[in-house]
Amino acid sequence: MTHLICMRVSVIRMRAIRLIQPGLPLVEVEQEPVTLNTDEVRVQVAAAGICRSDVHYRAGTRPVPRLPVTPGHEVAGHVLEVGSDVTTPEPGDRVVIHYLISCGKCPECRLDREQFCETGSMIGLSRDGGYAEEIVVPARNAIPLPESIATEVGAVMMCSTATSLHALRRGGFQPGETVAVFGCGGLGMSAIKLAVAMGAGGVYAVDIDPAKLEAAAGLGATPIVFDDSSSVTADVALELVGLPETMAAAVRSLAVGGRAVAVGITHEPFQLHSFNDLVLREASVIGSADHLLSEIHELIAMVIDGILDLSDVVTGTIPLEANAVNGAMDALQRHEGGIRSVIVP
Ligand SMILES: [Zn+2]
Ligand SMILES: [Zn+2]
Repeated sequence: MTHLICMRVSVIRMRAIRLIQPGLPLVEVEQEPVTLNTDEVRVQVAAAGICRSDVHYRAGTRPVPRLPVTPGHEVAGHVLEVGSDVTTPEPGDRVVIHYLISCGKCPECRLDREQFCETGSMIGLSRDGGYAEEIVVPARNAIPLPESIATEVGAVMMCSTATSLHALRRGGFQPGETVAVFGCGGLGMSAIKLAVAMGAGGVYAVDIDPAKLEAAAGLGATPIVFDDSSSVTADVALELVGLPETMAAAVRSLAVGGRAVAVGITHEPFQLHSFNDLVLREASVIGSADHLLSEIHELIAMVIDGILDLSDVVTGTIPLEANAVNGAMDALQRHEGGIRSVIVP
C-alpha cells in the first residue's frame, strides 16, 4: 500500500503558465506530461520568448482557437525523449522549435506553403507552447541548434527574425536593392539586420519613435521620421506596423518595379490609387505570413557563418512564474521600449 502511494506521488508533473480565458492574466498550473507519439520528441524548455502576439492572445484582440492553451511559440531546449520512429534529433540534443506544424503532404505543403497546411497547427496557439517546463512536438519541428548560438537567441530567432527573412523573400529582395522598413520594433530590427547582412544597396528605417530610429541607425539604416517618408524610394518596402497610413506610405515609397510587403496585423483597410500607385510604376503589393521550416535552417547558417549577429536581441530573462510572465507581457502591452524578455524555466 505504501508502495502504491509512493508511485502515485512520484509521477512527475510539469509546470506550465497557461491562458485559461482571454482578458485575464495567465495562470500557473501543474499538468501530467503529454504522451509521446512515435514521430514526436519531448523537449525540456530552456528558453521561451515572450512575443507581442502572445500579448494579443491574452488580451483577446486575436482569437485563440483552443482554450486553455499554453502560449509560447519561440522555444529552444534539450531533447529529453524521442518517439520510436524518430532518428533525429537524439536525446540530449540542443534544439530550436519551428512553431508551424504541418503534414508535409497536402497540396499547400507540397507547394512550399506550409503555413496554409490543411491540417496545420501552431504551437502556443492551437496546441500547447513553450511557457512550460516541457513541450512535445513532431521531430521534424525540432532543429538542432549549434553550440555557438545561445539558447535564448535561438528561441527568439524562431519568430521575428524568421518572419522578416520570409518577408524579404516574398518581396523578391535581391542584393543591391534598396529596402524600406516601416516599423522598427522587434520585427523591424530583424528586417534591417537581415537586409544589411544580405547586401542591400541601402536600408531606410521609418518610424515615429526617436529611440527606435536611433537604434536602427546603429544597425546601418538611414533613419526617417514617418512624416518625412515621402522622401523614401525603395525596391522593397516592408510594412510591419499594421496601420492603413504606413501601408499606404509603403506602397507610395516604391520605385519602378517595387514590391510592398504587408506583414503587420490590422483589420483596417487602406486606400490605394491603382493607376498612380501601381500601374505607373508596375508596383506590386504582396502579403507575407509567418515563415518556412527551410528558412529556419537558412537563418541558423547565416548566424554560424557570422553574416548575421543576433547577440543583442534578448534584453532580459525571467523565471517560469505567472507573476513574472504576466508582468513582462504588461510591459510589452504598454509598448515599453524594445524589450524582448525570454522565460528561462
Ligand atoms: Zn512571435
Ligand atoms: Zn500540409
